[in-house]
Formats: sequence, C-alpha cells, structure tokens
Amino acid sequence: MPAIAPRKAYRVGRSKTGLGLFATMPIKKGTRIIRYFGPILDCRIPEQDEIENKYLFELNGRWTIDGSVRKNLARYINHSCRPNAESDVRPRERKVFIRAIKNIEPGEEINYDYGTDYFKAYLKPIGCKCPSCENKRKKQRAEARAERAKVKARAERKAQKAGAKTTAVKKKKLNGKHFAGKVGRAKV
Ligand SMILES: [Zn+2]
Repeated sequence: MPAIAPRKAYRVGRSKTGLGLFATMPIKKGTRIIRYFGPILDCRIPEQDEIENKYLFELNGRWTIDGSVRKNLARYINHSCRPNAESDVRPRERKVFIRAIKNIEPGEEINYDYGTDYFKAYLKPIGCKCPSCENKRKKQRAEARAERAKVKARAERKAQKAGAKTTAVKKKKLNGKHFAGKVGRAKV
C-alpha cells in the first residue's frame, strides 16, 4: 500500500490562474495525495458520450471519469509542464489517484501534467500559464531585453566613433584651409 496523505494535507486556494490545490503539510514523494473521482461515463451510451466539460478524465477507450462534480477537489489541481505529482490511472478499477512524484512542501501548489491532448486543446491556444512556462517566457523576455541593450550599445559606440571621425576630418580641413590661406597670402 502506498502512503496516503490525510484529507487535511491539502486545501483549495488562490492560484495565479484561478483556484488551485495547495499542500498544507509536507507530502513525501510517492504519496497518494487525492483521488480524482466522479461519475463514470460509458462512451457507448450516446447521452454519456455527449457530455463535454474541462474535467473529463479518460480512463481508456471506453470509460471516462466526469470530474466536474463539486466534491471532486482533485479537479482544482492545475496543469504543469514540470509537475510535482502525476496521475495514477487504473482503468480496471476505474479509478485515478494523484500521486506525488517529488517531496512537496507546505504552501506549494500541487500539479500534474494533463497530457498532450488537453495541452493541445486548451492550453496551447492561450499559452500555458504553468510556473515552468512562465519562467521560460520570463527568461526569453530578459534575453530579448539584454539583446536589445547590446544592439543599442553597439549602435551608440558606432555613432560616437563616427562623430570622432567627423571632428578629425573637420580639423584637417580647417588646417588645410588655414595653410592654403597663408600660402595664398604669401603669393600676393
Ligand atoms: Zn506549461
């Protein structure tokens, strides 16, 4: 039997993207945190196959859990591309458990990877807001900023050099004129 987190090991709280599920005590790697549950839908029954919401968890080609029920607190768990938990799918038992794949600290948000189908359908069109993707974007923005600063500095140095050259050329010309004048005067 895996270690099972007590009911008070997590709570629903405010997350960056709405609500999320947060650890309230340390949860060890490998611990079964919570069950993802709801009515089991059979895709061979048309009325059940027609049900559509964001909380459907496909067990296999036939059975799907409709996790949209209020009591299913696991539905508050947000997606992450670098999660600290995973879904332990048991099609034969028609059960899904969310299990820690890292040691989770109190206050940390619990998340798991929703999988490519969900990602493509719901997250890719709006841009994934998970901490890992947000960090990636932040890094990219910082890199772009640094690159712009580098280009600007280079342009400024170039402009400064060009300015120095113009002054040098001007000085030479003035000297030349001055010299020519002298020569001219001497000739007269
Ligand atoms: Zn992401």
